Amino acid sequence: MSLQALQDALTAAGLAGEWVARSEPASIDVGKGAYVLALELVRRLNLDFSKFTGSTLEPGWYVYLGSARGPGGLAARLQRHFRADKKLHWHIDRLTTEAAQLGGLVVPGGHECALRETLQQRPEFELALPGFGSTDCRRCPSHLLRLRPC
Ligand SMILES: [Zn+2]
Repeated sequence: MSLQALQDALTAAGLAGEWVARSEPASIDVGKGAYVLALELVRRLNLDFSKFTGSTLEPGWYVYLGSARGPGGLAARLQRHFRADKKLHWHIDRLTTEAAQLGGLVVPGGHECALRETLQQRPEFELALPGFGSTDCRRCPSHLLRLRPC
C-alpha cells in the first residue's frame, strides 16, 4: 500500500483539502479546523500504555482525525505531529514517533468527528482500535481508522 493509495481513498471520500507533507515547512497559514493525519507503520506495533496495553496495530496506513482551533492552528499542530523528538502527551504520539511516513490533509473549518463519519462509511477504511484518540468525544467509537489492505 502506498501513500498514493491512501490519498486516492481520501479523494474518493470527497475530502478535498490541502496536503501537507512532512518535508514541507508547515509555516504556511492553513487556518484552523480539522485535519486527517496519515501515518504508515511498517512493522507491527505492540501497544503498552493505558487501556491499550496488549493491543497490536498491524503494518499499514492509518488515519487519525483531529482538530486544531487554538493558536498556531493546523500548521502548528501538524508540525508537532511530524516531529520525531517530542514529549509523549497524546495517544497518537505513540504512533507518530513510530511511523515510517507521515502526512496530513487540512480541512479548515472542518470537524474531526464529521471527517471520521465520512471516512468510516467508505469501504476503504475500517475502525482501527476502539477508544483510541476519542477520549473526549461522545460521538465517535475512535478517531483512528485503518486503510483496509487490498
Ligand atoms: Zn469524534
